[in-house]
Amino acid sequence: MCGIFGIANNSDAATLTHLGLYALQHRGQESTGISSSDSEQLYTHKAMGHVADVFDEAALSRLKGSNAIGHTRYSTAGDSNEGNAQPIVVNCSFGTVALCHNGNLINAVSLRQSLESQGAIFQSTADTEVILHLLARSQQGTLLDALAECLMQVQGAFSLLLLTKDTVIAARDPYGFRPLCLGKINGSHVLASESCAFDLINAQYVREIEPSKILVIRGEQVQSIKVLHAPHTTKCIFEHVYFSRPDSLVFGRTVQATRDRMGRALARENPVEADLVVPIPDSGMAAAVGYSQESGIPFAMGLIRNHYVGRTFIEPQRAIRNFGVKVKLNPVRELLAGKRVILIDDSLVRGTTSRKIVKMVRAAGAKEVHMRISCPPTISPCFYGVDTPAKKELVASSHTVEEICKNIEADSLAYLSLGGLLEAVNAKGNEFCTACYTGKYPIDFPDGFPDARESERQLDLWEASLNPVP
Ligand code: SF4
Repeated sequence: MCGIFGIANNSDAATLTHLGLYALQHRGQESTGISSSDSEQLYTHKAMGHVADVFDEAALSRLKGSNAIGHTRYSTAGDSNEGNAQPIVVNCSFGTVALCHNGNLINAVSLRQSLESQGAIFQSTADTEVILHLLARSQQGTLLDALAECLMQVQGAFSLLLLTKDTVIAARDPYGFRPLCLGKINGSHVLASESCAFDLINAQYVREIEPSKILVIRGEQVQSIKVLHAPHTTKCIFEHVYFSRPDSLVFGRTVQATRDRMGRALARENPVEADLVVPIPDSGMAAAVGYSQESGIPFAMGLIRNHYVGRTFIEPQRAIRNFGVKVKLNPVRELLAGKRVILIDDSLVRGTTSRKIVKMVRAAGAKEVHMRISCPPTISPCFYGVDTPAKKELVASSHTVEEICKNIEADSLAYLSLGGLLEAVNAKGNEFCTACYTGKYPIDFPDGFPDARESERQLDLWEASLNPVP
């Protein structure tokens, strides 16, 4: 998962991109970067770390020009190091081009092998670089034609922003896995993974960039071109369950309202007698409010989160993840003591965090602890840009709900059904990807990509090749 932001034709391009990335920090906390252009050349600043630490006034003042694109990264393909920080910038026959990417390409390994066999030298281990190599090698006469040709060769999830010396280009894969929306500010066009980035800079949300489309913004002119095709969209439902900020519009829907409906559906499907509904902050908050209102059981902030610790799920290293769990939550004993507590969380991946939290709530004096999860059991890994662990680490892939309940030492455990989730997100037809809950992957895997149904071991090996553990 990553966050991308772009702006065209604005004298404060770099500053507004900096602010936009700040709003998208939750989508990636490993590295960040901005490229800007002033119709003569491109300027780039990128480094490991958070947006607030990487950019200072001096760095922003060097990012000249009225066009800019930026990126916040966490690694789902390629290592976590500065070489993989984006935007990635190349010089080719189409001039200097910078690229930001959110998503994962499922045929990146085979494309890379093929390019390397033809003499290509890669600067990074990120799948994103494959796009630039294909672009640079294209025999097409224009950058746009080369991009269209290149996007027809890559498979998987991509929301892209490209920058040249005078143009900002956006592109979204035909399945629409990852979000990308268009806004306006004082006559300038802005692009962002989520609309919360527009709110911060007082830009107006205009619409989603349609899947399959390339959008070219030069000055005030916008051109939209359809170059790709898919039988239907498969937007990532996990964006609404977990990843996106609740104050964002994602896929044209307010995330907060969706999560509230998930909580309400969870309460209808899985009632239990209790005294308190307690969210696991922050991502369980909206569903807990919905559960409380639907069930009539009082809501209480029985767990307080230390906001200066990163999200445990997002950290790529196991050591940091374990450390994070220990320090990020603290129970409010006065609220929990003697109470029958319903804990609401938005996902249960390995079960290790849930077990610690249940234990913590019991130690704070809770009489009963019932766990409710506002999505179905996660049984399959994601290959489209979300860093879910390997299948064998997903506790629900090999354990029943009863076994998981015993494992996390809760009095009861229940999940929202798939039907309940789809209804909460107002899904139309099969517009959403739900592969992590069903194991049904929406795109055929390319040659050489293991069949998820056949071999768990092959899947793990494939994952390891995408995201090597140091
Ligand atoms: S597999 Fe899950 S996380 Fe990945 S794109 Fe599909 S719904 Fe989203």
